[in-house]
Amino acid sequence: MIYDHILVRYGELTLKGANRKIFVNKLRSNVKRSLMPLQGYTVKANRDRMYIELDEGADIEEMCNRLKKVFGIYSISPVLKIEKTLETANELAIRFAKGYATGDTFKIDVKRSDKNFPYDTYALQRTIGGAVLDATDHLSVDVHNPDHNIKVEVRLDAIYMYDKVIAGAGGLPVGTGGKTLLMLSGGIDSPVAGIEVMRRGVTVEAIHFHSPPFTSEKAKEKVIELTRILSESVGPIKLHIVPFTDLQKQVNKVVHERYTMTSTRRMMMRVADKVVHDIDAHAIVNGENLGQVASQTLKSMYAINHVTSTPVLRPLLTLDKEDIVKKAKNIGTFDVSIQPYEDCCTIFTPKNPITEPDIDKVEKYESGYDFEPLVQQAVDGIETLHITSDYQSEKDSATQALADELF
Ligand code: ATP
Ligand code: MG
Repeated sequence: MIYDHILVRYGELTLKGANRKIFVNKLRSNVKRSLMPLQGYTVKANRDRMYIELDEGADIEEMCNRLKKVFGIYSISPVLKIEKTLETANELAIRFAKGYATGDTFKIDVKRSDKNFPYDTYALQRTIGGAVLDATDHLSVDVHNPDHNIKVEVRLDAIYMYDKVIAGAGGLPVGTGGKTLLMLSGGIDSPVAGIEVMRRGVTVEAIHFHSPPFTSEKAKEKVIELTRILSESVGPIKLHIVPFTDLQKQVNKVVHERYTMTSTRRMMMRVADKVVHDIDAHAIVNGENLGQVASQTLKSMYAINHVTSTPVLRPLLTLDKEDIVKKAKNIGTFDVSIQPYEDCCTIFTPKNPITEPDIDKVEKYESGYDFEPLVQQAVDGIETLHITSDYQSEKDSATQALADELF
C-alpha cells in the first residue's frame, strides 16, 4: 500500500487546555527536527492532530521510525486521504483487504466527525464491509477481535483510511518543561534517567566527570556515544566534560579512605550545582537507585545531597535493576554502557566504602582543605560539546585510535 499521509496523534497534550498552542508548536518543531535529513514531506499541525503530507517516494518507514521516538506523540498511522464518496471508500477498503492473508478476519471501524455526510456510521460500516466481502473470497468479519481493523474517518475535508496504529513514545514534547542538568556516567543507569525526564518534556544538558589519565579517552568517547544515542530522541544535547582529576586526587589526599566515595560525590554535586546556575537550569538529574551500591543508601544520599539546595531528581530511585536494563535496551544505550571502560569513580573506589556516612565526619574531613578554588577550577576547565544524532568526529578518532593499536 502506498500512503500519502502520516497521521500523528497527540498524547497527554489533549489535557493541557490553555497551554495547548505552545505544546503543539513545540511538538511541530520537534517533529520537523527529527525528520530533518529526510525529503519529501510537509508537516501540518492543528489543535487536535498532525498530518505529515508525503510526496511520492518519501521514505515512510524511516519517517515512522523517527517519529516513534519523539516525545509527546501517542501514536502514528500511515493513512490515505480520499475524496468523500462512498464509492472511493469502498474501493480503498477493498484494496486494503486484498493484501490480507487467506482466512484472516477484518472489521470496518467508522468515525464520522462530519455530521452532514449523507450516510451515518452504522450504514457506512455495513456498506463498506459488504463491499469488501463481495469483492474478496478469502476473508471474514470479526467485530470483536479482528486481525485487521480498517479505520475510516469521515472528516470535514476528506475521508482518511488506515489499518495500522503504531505506538509512539508518549510523554510531553521536549522543551515544554524547563531545563535540567543530567549527571551522565558511562553506566547503564544515568542515560535511562535522562530519557525518563526528557519524556516529561524537560530539556537536558549533560555533565560528565572525567579524570585523565586515570580514565581513558575511550571512557569519554563512550559518554559521547551515549549522548549521541539520547540525541536521537530529542535533538542536539550539550555535553559538559569536567576535568575532575585534581579534585579527585585532593579528596583522596585529605579525606579518610572510607569516606572518599562520599566526598567525591559531594564534589561532583558542587560542580554540578555551579553549572546548573551557569546554564539557567533548575534541577540536577542522576541515575541513583535506592540500595543499589554503597553510595546509594538513604544516609549516603543525604550526605551527598547536603552540599546543594538545587532539587536532585532521581527518576530511577525505586525501580528494579532488571527494569532499568530493559529500558536501556529499548533506548539502545545498553550495549554501549556495558563496554568495560573505567569510570572516574571505580578507579578510586576504596575497598570498603562507608555505606552509612556520618555527615559531621565527612564535613570534618573536607574542612582540612579549601576545596572551593578546585571546584571553581573544574568548572572553568569544562569542555562543552554539542552532540547531534550524526555526531562523528569523536567516533572517527576512536576508530583511528583502534587502527593505531592494530598497526
Ligand atoms: P550509572 O549506571 O548511571 O553509572 P551506577 O549504578 O553505576 O549508575 P554510581 O556509579 O553510584 O551508580 O553513580 C550514581 C550516579 O552518579 C550515576 O547514575 C550518575 O548520575 C552519577 N555519576 C557517577 N559517576 C559519574 C561521572 N563520572 N560523571 C557524571 N555523573 C556520574
Ligand atoms: Mg556508574
